[in-house]
Amino acid sequence: MAQKRFDRAPNDEKWPACGQWKRVKMFDDTITARLKCPECGCIALLNDHEIAAGGAVTPSVVCPRPDCDYHESGVVLAGWLD
Ligand SMILES: [Zn+2]
Repeated sequence: MAQKRFDRAPNDEKWPACGQWKRVKMFDDTITARLKCPECGCIALLNDHEIAAGGAVTPSVVCPRPDCDYHESGVVLAGWLD
């Protein structure tokens, strides 16, 4: 399966740039990530996704914006456990 790598946003950036992800701690202390849609710039929260140790995200990522058709399988968060 083709992979789409997202790079880790710099620690001092509050929001990821296009093609980047950022770690997020939820109110219940679970760890997830947000990433920026490469097509529309909308922020997608991955709290309803599984993120494997290697950074692979399942299921596929769909942009939360209704008028954006971004839909990608094989998303990988580079450096997820670093
Ligand atoms: Zn989008």
